[in-house]
Amino acid sequence: MKKNNTEITEELVRALPKTDLHCHLDGSLRVETLLELAHEQGVDLPADNVEELNNIIHAGSERNKSLAEYLKVFDYTLSVLQEAPALERVAFELAEDQWNDGVRLLEVRFSPVLNIEKGLTLAETIEATKAGLKRAEAKYGIKTGIIVCGIRSIGAQTSLTLAELAVAFKNRGVVGYDLAGQEENFPAKDHMEAFYLTLNNNLNLTIHAGETYGPESIHQAIHYCGAHRIGHGTRTREDGDLLNYINDHRIPLEMCITSNVQTGSVNSFETHPIRNYYDLGLRVTINTDNLLVSDTTITKEFLTAHKYYDFDLDDFKEMIIFGFKSAFLPYKEKRKLVKEVVEELAKF
Ligand SMILES: [Zn+2]
Repeated sequence: MKKNNTEITEELVRALPKTDLHCHLDGSLRVETLLELAHEQGVDLPADNVEELNNIIHAGSERNKSLAEYLKVFDYTLSVLQEAPALERVAFELAEDQWNDGVRLLEVRFSPVLNIEKGLTLAETIEATKAGLKRAEAKYGIKTGIIVCGIRSIGAQTSLTLAELAVAFKNRGVVGYDLAGQEENFPAKDHMEAFYLTLNNNLNLTIHAGETYGPESIHQAIHYCGAHRIGHGTRTREDGDLLNYINDHRIPLEMCITSNVQTGSVNSFETHPIRNYYDLGLRVTINTDNLLVSDTTITKEFLTAHKYYDFDLDDFKEMIIFGFKSAFLPYKEKRKLVKEVVEELAKF
């Protein structure tokens, strides 16, 4: 196909209607809000000003290049996310920030079991987060949904409880279930009961896989666990047959380029496989993972993709449509939204 020579600028990318399907609530706070909430709640953080705290948080992701180091930073953010008003606030602000960056459809994920240290019930964590997202929907018109995360390194029983929670809130704010966390030594199939419950209740399922472990993890997520989408899937290229299956079945990959470099999922921006996957026809989508921890935005991710992989405007339009097509939305609603977005993109 002929290359589209339209100049890719920050303004252009921001103006494009976009999705973010892979965004963790507890990794995407404003740093100022983290500090304010800590002051309000009497919580100690390792620094008491924006600059130092930013340095500490970003060092956890950038210098060490392992998922374990990357995940440590969440201890700080989670320390202030144990109260309903804090969850409501960060959910609202996240949707607001994403809307201002051109995101029309946002799926926010978190694991409620990590927000109950001060006595909130699991259901209350969902209610509070949903209230914040709904406030942003009413103010801006952004579409949102919640994905409940089980955690690989926390027991299977907890995953089942979280799947029950997700099912209980199906059609009431929750759009899917996910499994997140360390892949090595924590196989997804240990959490089968949670996936059975999710699927038996016709709820959407995505699983973090092939992020820091090989393609067998992706194979397991799809064939044993029934995942409809794959979080990252970076290492799909190591199994060509599986890659073809993912392509043939249009299984979306929720790719997060900056995060993939930071966690060591790939060695460098230059070696990220997204261009290769896109050229092969895979349904790749661009996502942020964590605005704060990865120090990114959806616009930055697109600009990074342009810089390193030379995607042009037509490629971006196609990937944006992949994003909307991959959303956990009812078909009728999705079809209408995709049509609107196609018409809007035609103006660029
Ligand atoms: Zn993730």
